[in-house]
Amino acid sequence: MKPFDHIIIGAGSAGCVAATTLAKSGRRVALIEAGGSDEGFFDALDAGRWKNLVGTKHDYDYQIEPQPHGNSSIRHTRGKILGGTSSINTIIAWRTPDYDLERWVEQGAKGWSPNEISPLFDRIFSQVHIETSSLENPFHHDLIEAASQAGLGLIDFSPKNQVRDGVGYLYFNKKGRMRQSASVAFLHPLSQWGDELTVLTNTKAHKILFDGDRAIGVETDKGTFYSDGDLILSAGAFASPTLLMQSGVGPATHLSDVGITVQRELLGVGENLLDHPDSMIGWETHRPIPAVDLNAMGMALFGKTDPSLPVPDIMAHVGTAVFDTYTKPHGYPTATNGFSFSPNVARARSTGTVRLRSNNPADRPLIDFRYFTDPYDRFILTEGIKLSRRIAAEHPLKDWIKRELFPGIEVQSDEEISAYARKVAGTVYHPAGTCKMGVVDDETAVVDAQLRVRGIENLRVADASIFPTMIGVNPNITIMMIGMKCADMILGSDS
Ligand SMILES: Cc1cc2nc3c(=O)[nH]c(=O)nc-3n(C[C@H](O)[C@H](O)[C@H](O)COP(=O)(O)OP(=O)(O)OC[C@H]3O[C@@H](n4cnc5c(N)ncnc54)[C@H](O)[C@@H]3O)c2cc1C
Repeated sequence: MKPFDHIIIGAGSAGCVAATTLAKSGRRVALIEAGGSDEGFFDALDAGRWKNLVGTKHDYDYQIEPQPHGNSSIRHTRGKILGGTSSINTIIAWRTPDYDLERWVEQGAKGWSPNEISPLFDRIFSQVHIETSSLENPFHHDLIEAASQAGLGLIDFSPKNQVRDGVGYLYFNKKGRMRQSASVAFLHPLSQWGDELTVLTNTKAHKILFDGDRAIGVETDKGTFYSDGDLILSAGAFASPTLLMQSGVGPATHLSDVGITVQRELLGVGENLLDHPDSMIGWETHRPIPAVDLNAMGMALFGKTDPSLPVPDIMAHVGTAVFDTYTKPHGYPTATNGFSFSPNVARARSTGTVRLRSNNPADRPLIDFRYFTDPYDRFILTEGIKLSRRIAAEHPLKDWIKRELFPGIEVQSDEEISAYARKVAGTVYHPAGTCKMGVVDDETAVVDAQLRVRGIENLRVADASIFPTMIGVNPNITIMMIGMKCADMILGSDS
């Protein structure tokens, strides 16, 4: 087969956007995806049915290494299908807070300032339809009232705005029930693509091939594919560093330990693993809560542990159901009628690692988040539970409540709350940071501000892996933006 102009590995949130942006500019592109197609597959297209995919062949369902300070039984869902994890997520949509882009620029992300990124969001939102919850709900009205008594006013969380502390209705990338995943919004219909875009589904990349320091192709379970121009790794925060290390790019000692010849030593590959860890507080209600939009999640709140902070440091999703996945196994009571708050650490500081188990590409990587190793994360989680309690104690929300199910009112001191919150901790499913972007003389940076892998020609990373630090909101739209920015930089149309 004639070499492509570009090969993109992974048709997820970033990969679909990068591939189609390049193809629309006349480049001849191959998009290689380990999973199958989502076209006509309603468990992926209907945004209320994502749970049908969890634990199936469409979910990588990663286990994690034992967590001395947190919950070792957390499972990390990741989509293995066109659209990647954007085909299996809960479609909450935000733009990247300016605050976080400014932190990235401070770390060397030249060209990523809020003003430079803003036009990319205009382009994303011209293609990805966003709407808010359409169902009026008395529970939500009472939540807004109670939050306001607790000092959190009603905020419009539209992705046009910057996030501030307050409570508000979530916005979703959907049209009615239909998900606006990266594949739906950018790839569909697949039949529209001719020679400019070849979508290779059910094709798993094993390693990148090099000629000297230049990436020239990719070896897959369906054969080898070559490209004249840049290859883009968009396989996600677990698989992108895994593929780099399987190809000999990563920390030399670790690569030697698993019997891989070093192509290029890069200490940061698989380091800096970030996430949004969360926990749960749940209440039983006297009566059923009327249905809200899809996924029993229509609202969220943001709080500050110190009013002088420039941005909120606590985020909590509000569920109109009892979310008991990690509390039930510990014997906490549950109920048919109830609600839950899941406070998370908006800018978690604990960092973990992704490492190879062996030099066999079929083996799962070793994923160790080292959750709550940074005391800051424990503090924020504890404060999140306390803030949730303060809101629930206010009228009229209080009048809905029959009892606190978990942790239970006997859990009161900060130490008790922290121990409980970490024991039943979950994840908002936002792994990131494992191929971080940074300045050339930062030896832990994997890619430069143009997303080029340091010391290698023709190879870029564009997905959640490149986050230098965690951002304070759910990241899917940010990751789509990264795919678009990468394509623009290759095309030279980056402003
Ligand atoms: C249950 C759940 C709910 C979530 N809810 C939200 C939400 O409401 N809002 C939000 O903003 N974010 C949400 N997220 C997170 C968000 O969806 C992800 O952060 C984002 O989709 C990640 O994008 P990515 O491009 O980095 O990786 P992915 O979208 O995961 O794409 C990686 C792609 O690469 C493919 N791939 C991997 N390895 C290989 C290989 N070797 N060869 C070929 N292909 C390969 C994968 O199959 C996949 O298609 C949620 C995540 C989950 C799991």
